[in-house]
This record gives sequence, C-alpha cells and structure tokens, in this order.
Amino acid sequence: MIKRNMDVPWSYQGENGPEHWHTLCDWYREGAEFAYQSPIHLRHEGAVSGKQAAFESLHFSYRTERFTEKEFKNTIHFIPFECESHVVFKGVRYALTDIHYHLPSEHWIDGEQKPVEIHLVHMNNEGTNLVVGVLCEIVPEILEEGPLRQSEIWDLDQHLEVFDPSVFLPRSKSHFHYVGSLTTPPTKGPINWFVFDETTKLSRVFLSQFQEEILQGNNRPLQESKDRRIYYFDEVEE
Ligand SMILES: [Zn+2]
Repeated sequence: MIKRNMDVPWSYQGENGPEHWHTLCDWYREGAEFAYQSPIHLRHEGAVSGKQAAFESLHFSYRTERFTEKEFKNTIHFIPFECESHVVFKGVRYALTDIHYHLPSEHWIDGEQKPVEIHLVHMNNEGTNLVVGVLCEIVPEILEEGPLRQSEIWDLDQHLEVFDPSVFLPRSKSHFHYVGSLTTPPTKGPINWFVFDETTKLSRVFLSQFQEEILQGNNRPLQESKDRRIYYFDEVEE
C-alpha cells in the first residue's frame, strides 16, 4: 500500500527538505525516478528555435472566473470553481486548475533567479499536468494591469476572487518549452513546461495580503538539465 501525498509531510528545509523527498515514501520515490526533473536553468543560448519544432506551441484561452484561495503544501493556491480558463497544446485541452507562488523563483534564466515565480497548473482529461511558469519582480505600487486593479474582485475574507488569470501573464508571450517534472512531491514526470522569458511585475501590496513567511524560501533547488531538449518560441502573432 503506497502512502499518499497528504499523509507525508515535506518541507524546504531539514529532515523533510528537497534532498530527502525521495526517501519520505514510496510515492515520492517513484516520482523522483523520472530522469528529467524540474526546475532547471534555462538559457537562450543553445535552445532549439520553436520554428524547428514539429509542433505549435501553446494557445491561451483564459477568461474572468471565480477562484477561492487556500494555503496548503507550503504555498498559497488560487483554485477556480469552474475551470473555464484553459490552454491548448498539440490539440489537447488542458484546464487551469491551480495558481500558486514560489519565492524566490524556481527556474533561472540566463544566470538570473527572480524574486517570485507564479505557476499556472493545468490538467487534461487524462489527469496529465501542464505548467506555465512566470518569473516576477516585486514592485511597491499597485499596478494598472496587475491583480488588484478595480475591475477584479479580491475578497480574501470571503475566500472569493473574481479575476482573469491573464493578469499574471507578461505582455510578450515568448517562452521556453521543455519536458520536466512537478517541482513538489511527488516530483513525477513527464510534465510539459512553458516558462516565459519576459518577467512580469507583482505588487508588494498584493503579496502583503498573504503571510509571506509561508511563501519565503519555497523553491526547489535547480535540477540537472542533462541531455534534454529545450525549445524557445518567439512571440507568436495571434
Ligand atoms: Zn509550483
């Protein structure tokens, strides 16, 4: 009988920290056996141009919908009620099922780590995940195009938020694509990853609504890239 995730506590430090995750239970051990783990260091140099790929990249179809927020698994999650927002990759629809935060970023780009990484987690009908990563800078002011603007509703007391998840995406849609794993236990793969190379801005005011000590330091260390192929897609005209 395999022990399930919720039964086995894990953290980012000490005895339950990342270097021990694979020893905590069989389920985590099986996940860690996937050879191509995440996060990794992404570099423009050496990345395969998306033009050489035999497939199209990601198509976003995000819309304003209702979310609730919850704290679990060492971060804050925004979870949609109806999962109407989705992406399409290689003809398969993946519904947006979760948005959460890592401080600092898990992926590095061209030698740089950023203060925040947002993960937009999607799932298809077969239960396969696809994750979009957005690296962020933190700025002091409320941003006109950010998550606290007037047209969105953020009611953390009622646990009801109404927003378009596009507020977390950068303006340019150029991005890296590679196959990796989940970055939290069980670190299973294969997972299709899409990481934007334009950083976006997140306001300090937005982050201060949450207990930042929960979020701080919740990043898995970099994993080896090994021989895996990393694609880079220039912005696609829509
Ligand atoms: Zn994540």
